[in-house]
Amino acid sequence: MPELPEVEVTRLSFADRIAGARIESTRLGKPLRWPLGIQPGKLVGQHVRAVRRRGKYLLLDLDRGVLIMHLGMSGSLIFAREMPPPGHHDHFDLVTNLGVLRLHDPRRFGAVVHVPDEASPRAQRLLGRLGVEPLGPDFEPAGFHAALKRRNAAIKSVLLSGHVVVGVGNIYACEALFLAGIRPTLKANRITRAAAGRLHAAIRDVLARAVRLGGSTLRDFSNAKGESGYFQMEAMVYGRAGLPCKLCGQPVRQLRQGQRSTYWCRQCQGG
Ligand SMILES: [Zn+2]
Repeated sequence: MPELPEVEVTRLSFADRIAGARIESTRLGKPLRWPLGIQPGKLVGQHVRAVRRRGKYLLLDLDRGVLIMHLGMSGSLIFAREMPPPGHHDHFDLVTNLGVLRLHDPRRFGAVVHVPDEASPRAQRLLGRLGVEPLGPDFEPAGFHAALKRRNAAIKSVLLSGHVVVGVGNIYACEALFLAGIRPTLKANRITRAAAGRLHAAIRDVLARAVRLGGSTLRDFSNAKGESGYFQMEAMVYGRAGLPCKLCGQPVRQLRQGQRSTYWCRQCQGG
C-alpha cells in the first residue's frame, strides 16, 4: 500500500511539470472507489494550478474546484508527455497540453474525486478528520504530547489511526517507536513529555528519510511503468522478528495489534 512518503514522492515527480497545464480531455476506465462527482466535460479547458498533498491524498487545484486523488491499495500515478494506450489496469487519464496524468490501479481502491472546494461536505468526508501533517509546521512536540494525553489506546494504534498525526503507516510506526525507545503497547496517555518529544523527532526522521530515499530515485520512479513500492529503508525492527536487535542483540519480537503486526525490542523499548 502506498504510504505517505510514496505519495509525497509521487507528488514531487510531477507537480512542477503539470503546473499550468490545460486539461484537454479525461478518460475514465472501470469504476474506482468513489464516483468522479462532476461531468468530465466540465474539467476541459481548466488549468492545473498546483499539486498539494494532505495525508495520503493528492489535491490538484484547478481553476474551479479541486481534484482529489488517492492511490488506494495498489495505485500509482505517472505523468508523461508520451503515454501508451491505456492498459487493463489504467482507470483514469487526465489529458493535458503538457502531458497525460494516468492512474494505474489494479485493485481499484484508488479514487479521483472532484470537489468545489475543500470546505465542501464531500471534501470534508475525506479530509475532515485527518490529524496534523507529520512533516509540516503544525506537528510540534508540545501539541503532540497534549494530543496523546487525550488518548487511552496503545500508542501504536493511536499512530496508525491517523487522528493525531497522519501518514504514519505500520512500517514507520514500528520504526519510530523503536527509535524513540517506547513500548508499542504503552497507553498514549501514559507517555511522558520527554518520550513524546523523542517520538516526535523519530516520526519526522523516518518519514523524511523515506521521502529522501524515494526522491533520490525520483527519476526512475517517475519513468517506471507504474510499479510503486516501498523505498528500501534499512529497517531496525520492521519485518525482523527473531533476528537480533541492531542495538542490543536481543531477538526482535512480534505481536498483533488491531490486525497489524508490530515489531519491537523488549530490551530497547522498555519491558
Ligand atoms: Zn534492542
